[in-house]
Amino acid sequence: MYSILITGGAGFIGSNLCEFFLNKGHRVTCLDNFATGFKDNISSYLDNANFTLIEGDIRNFETCLVAVKNVDFVLHQAALGSVPRSIKDPITSNEVNVSGFLNMLEASRLAKVKRFIYAASSSTYGDSESLPKVEEVIGNPLSPYAVTKYVNELYASVYGKIYGLETIGLRYFNVFGRRQDPNGAYAAVIPLFVKKLMSYESPIVNGDGNFSRDFTYIDNVIQMNELAIETSNPLALNTVFNTAVGDRTTLNDLLTILKRALSKYDEKIADVPIIHGPNRAGDIPHSLASIDKAKAILGYNPQYKLSEGIEEAIEWYWKNS
Ligand code: NAD
Repeated sequence: MYSILITGGAGFIGSNLCEFFLNKGHRVTCLDNFATGFKDNISSYLDNANFTLIEGDIRNFETCLVAVKNVDFVLHQAALGSVPRSIKDPITSNEVNVSGFLNMLEASRLAKVKRFIYAASSSTYGDSESLPKVEEVIGNPLSPYAVTKYVNELYASVYGKIYGLETIGLRYFNVFGRRQDPNGAYAAVIPLFVKKLMSYESPIVNGDGNFSRDFTYIDNVIQMNELAIETSNPLALNTVFNTAVGDRTTLNDLLTILKRALSKYDEKIADVPIIHGPNRAGDIPHSLASIDKAKAILGYNPQYKLSEGIEEAIEWYWKNS
């Protein structure tokens, strides 16, 4: 049994990680300030003897020191997501995503945790046009958010080199699935579109809908986190891995898939029209991961393609709406 600290554990990805590792019999501590996460996401674990909630902020170093006590593995998810949020308020994004990250890294080093595994981001590929994205070829960041996520990788690498802390960065590509928040100005595209379609409102596509993404179902992300904990391959350490499916889907095709899946529950959804608006600042046109490195070094084998993940996600949104 491991002791695992999941920062941002009340958020979308973090709460799924809490659930998975609790079900595996590990001890899980969740550190979250509920900036974008919800008590509801973790309320069912509160009476589990293996679960501890620390309500606190990673911008407070003392809090981080308390959270890492007796911890084997850190799965660092806490951050302010969203490119537009970071464009509107770059200072807060930097405080949480960079200073908060450094606090967690330093606290983990002092506590001698076995390994620090963190949520990196496909936004680090920036303006690089090469496809598929391979870990070693990145471009220039296109948003404050992308800068923060790249700085995370630089700090993690330096902590590996200077202090010998084991780190693994998982560059997540457009993750979706149960418990992803459909509300608010910074909702991700899949839950936002699902919510709109379920209430017969037209989803607004930024641009002509031909931008594409490597949409990644949450269970593939969980698998990568588990592999990052379990691996004993030295090549896995102090590096980053694309965390994706290795397939891309345009927004137009995504909407077709969503409408088809939702129509099984309510056939009127098939007739909801789509609206197109202008492109959004900071968005990259195409994103497609090579997952060869994760396959070769970690033994990653994604179990969900987009359409399979969509079926499960929509069942969840339908039941929980
Ligand atoms: P989320 O907003 O649902 O979860 C983030 C969690 O961090 C929330 O529970 C929030 O309350 C918590 N948090 C924020 N600021 C905090 C602070 N100062 N102190 C403590 N907790 C704080 O987002 P998510 O989609 O689950 O993202 C998790 C991680 O994955 C983030 O680091 C994000 O940048 C990264 N990521 C996500 C995606 C994606 O597609 N969802 C893609 C790339 C990277």
